Amino acid sequence: MKGITILGATGSIGLNTLEVIKQHRQDYEVIALTAHQQVDRLEALCLEWMPRYAVMADSDAAERLSLRLKKINAPVQVLSGTDGLTFVASLPETNLVMAAIVGSAGLLPTLAAAKAGKRLLLANKEALVMSGQILIETVRKHGAELLPVDSEHSAIFQCLPFKKNTGIQQETHHTEISRLLLTASGGPFRTYSVEQLHDVTPEQACAHPNWNMGRKISVDSATMMNKGLEVIEACWLFSTPPNKIEVVLHPQSVIHSLVEYIDGSVLAQLGQPDMRTPIAYALAWPKRISSGVPRLNLTEIAQLDFEAIDFNRFPCLKLAYDALLAGGTTTTILNAANEIAVEAFLQKRLRFTAISKVVETTLSKLSGHKATSIDIILEDDAHARDLASELINCEKNAQS
Ligand code: NAD
Ligand code: MG
Repeated sequence: MKGITILGATGSIGLNTLEVIKQHRQDYEVIALTAHQQVDRLEALCLEWMPRYAVMADSDAAERLSLRLKKINAPVQVLSGTDGLTFVASLPETNLVMAAIVGSAGLLPTLAAAKAGKRLLLANKEALVMSGQILIETVRKHGAELLPVDSEHSAIFQCLPFKKNTGIQQETHHTEISRLLLTASGGPFRTYSVEQLHDVTPEQACAHPNWNMGRKISVDSATMMNKGLEVIEACWLFSTPPNKIEVVLHPQSVIHSLVEYIDGSVLAQLGQPDMRTPIAYALAWPKRISSGVPRLNLTEIAQLDFEAIDFNRFPCLKLAYDALLAGGTTTTILNAANEIAVEAFLQKRLRFTAISKVVETTLSKLSGHKATSIDIILEDDAHARDLASELINCEKNAQS
């Protein structure tokens, strides 16, 4: 029996994780569940799973949840804030931590899980984008295991030579591998012209053709910033330089990514576009367990298409590559500006096409530093957020 903490339990990845665990209740005990402000949803999950701890990021929400659970004598201890999140990420009775909080809020609890030497199932790609080097070093130093949950990285991980001792591929295979190929569906606006992109709404951006995801990652998929973040993620997870990571459009989302070897072999992982597959793989690695995902029917799919990326229509991907090459906290700045711009777009305070502009201007006005400590990373993150917010306010004033 393995104990698991699920950070971001009420989200798309959190709920899919519980769906997989439901099929293997004898193997996993849910120790802690966390959410941001959704008291009703976390209460329902607590009643179903009876974890030892529940954490609300927001302290008022924690109080409300605690009162409700006390009323029915549910033996769940309710905590709050970053301290509560890092506490449940480090519990001795927890073996596995699913890092599925969205955005920078996931960084400190993710790092805490690495420090506590846990098996870290990483969905929260922003943590690696903000602080790749520190997170990887922490994993190594404390003997943690880092397993990718992002479907592309799970695919690459499954196509790399097998190494039993650790999740991430610490040993070098770089002499054998010529390229990592990340597939991208192209999101809901793959065929839109630049003019058509001008007036798209949050509702349209969140209606992804293949995947059902949280709102932030859905917008990132529509701008292709998600693929940019994934290139950075792949770079850290697989110790691979940016020039060996390429993106190819593949609208069907059946091939989740590929590894090309120097002998000309290209290994790919295929499957339904359903996050329960990579989640199950990370949960049970190096074993495989059932995930509840239906079989892939190749004759029904019949055709797989591939296209080159048009960087003009999707400038965010280019910005991410550039930030990665610049190194240090430049990717932290990219991530922070993007989080602020996406939030503004979701609140209808910013046009879709202005998201990349806000990120680009923020990057041009701030210089990154060596990412040698979390304090430096958090400082640059805060500066980038302030500047991006200012830019959005100016843009709004200019429009009104
Ligand atoms: P989501 O919005 O559906 O869920 C996010 C979860 O984080 C919720 O439980 C929410 O309560 C919690 N949360 C949000 N803000 C918080 C805060 N400030 N403090 C504490 N908790 C907070 O998002 P998602 O789609 O499940 O994505 C989660 C992460 O997984 C993201 O980093 C995303 O990039 C990554 N990911 C998601 C998918 C997917 O298919 N959904 C695929 C690959 C990677
Ligand atoms: Mg992905």
